[in-house]
Amino acid sequence: MDEKSTCLQAGLDYTVCSWNSQFAVRSQGEEGSIRYVRGRALAHTFYGRFTRRNFLVMYEYIINLHMHTPYSDGRSSHAEIAQVAIEAGINGVIVTDHNVWVEGPQGYYGEGDRRVLMLIGEEVHDQTRNPQKNHLLILGAERELAMFAKDPQQLINAAKEADGLTFLAHPVDPESRAFGEKDLSWVDWDVRGYTGIELWNAMSEFKSLLRGKLPAIFHAFHPASVAHGPFDAALGIWDELLGRGQRVVAIGGSDAHAMIGRLGPLRRVLFPYEFHFRAVNTHIYTPEPFSGDAVNDRRLVLDALRQGHAFIGYDLPASTRGFRFTAQGLGSDAWAGDEISAASGVTLQIKLPIRTECRLLKDGEVIKTWREREACTHITTEPGIYRVEAFLFFWGKRRGWIYSNPIYVC
Ligand SMILES: [Zn+2]
Ligand SMILES: [Zn+2]
Repeated sequence: MDEKSTCLQAGLDYTVCSWNSQFAVRSQGEEGSIRYVRGRALAHTFYGRFTRRNFLVMYEYIINLHMHTPYSDGRSSHAEIAQVAIEAGINGVIVTDHNVWVEGPQGYYGEGDRRVLMLIGEEVHDQTRNPQKNHLLILGAERELAMFAKDPQQLINAAKEADGLTFLAHPVDPESRAFGEKDLSWVDWDVRGYTGIELWNAMSEFKSLLRGKLPAIFHAFHPASVAHGPFDAALGIWDELLGRGQRVVAIGGSDAHAMIGRLGPLRRVLFPYEFHFRAVNTHIYTPEPFSGDAVNDRRLVLDALRQGHAFIGYDLPASTRGFRFTAQGLGSDAWAGDEISAASGVTLQIKLPIRTECRLLKDGEVIKTWREREACTHITTEPGIYRVEAFLFFWGKRRGWIYSNPIYVC
């Protein structure tokens, strides 16, 4: 992380003047500084002669999660995946093989700017269940938990006891009758205590388009035509869970396998890992930069996901790096995933990396839409669950581009 990027994390257009543990910044012609308080960076800028504002600085990293290796049904090894991730320019990958936690490959691969952090989780489901449902992603538990697969609640509890995070994988996963692919949706919605849901699963979306041979061939050879956003049903479930008072963190997963598709004489690697790493990613915000120490940086990734300091970015049409959804209240700041008091009013701020359509939702309802905007502001005194969606046109269609986690205004 260079100094300029550090300044940009503050959500304003800073120019760095110098750098050490405290560095000077300039914002709109005014001098300011960044200093560290209890391990967190605060940017101070000066408006006019007497007013000073503090901005919490967060660092952004791109993580691609949910993928498979030959330990289950994926094609590439851990080392090959790491190499491809480095080439794609992402910061981390989380491998989640089916019903096996693989000990060993966790850690950094590559060096310096060309390095990637690999974490190992697991995707667990009950293989004896008929029909197959309820795939659970477990991250950070650092142990085998497939033996608890039979009872999803017991599995979630066991992961929690192991200090792991749990995400309901591809919660909405329609079948593809034409190719005999079964519906693997989550069905046991009475479970409690999980971290979140995989709101956008890239492969569920592909599966939903396999309505016959012709569309299958078209999408297999033009993977950029596939992604449109999370299913409406998944968004609806998420808003409903949030509305019930559950804190449910949304993540985006690739579910990369790079399996070979065969249709008559045609053979094609479906969605190579490299394609996925440039497509649906989970971007996280961390209060301190990655140090290069795998143990430390693993903690930063897991903490960010646990707290919902994250958004889903579809990076293929345009990079979503630099997206910010923050709130400023009386004496406090919040980032996506945080709570903030409505007392005395809250200013919600959205910064988009490029001008496009953006909308703000409160309690699942769209309350404001902006078009062709890079910066959007909404001031409110109303408690509610606020989240952001952004869209852009790609391959001739309006597509979901960014889905933030909520800010909880209480
Ligand atoms: Zn699955
Ligand atoms: Zn999977």
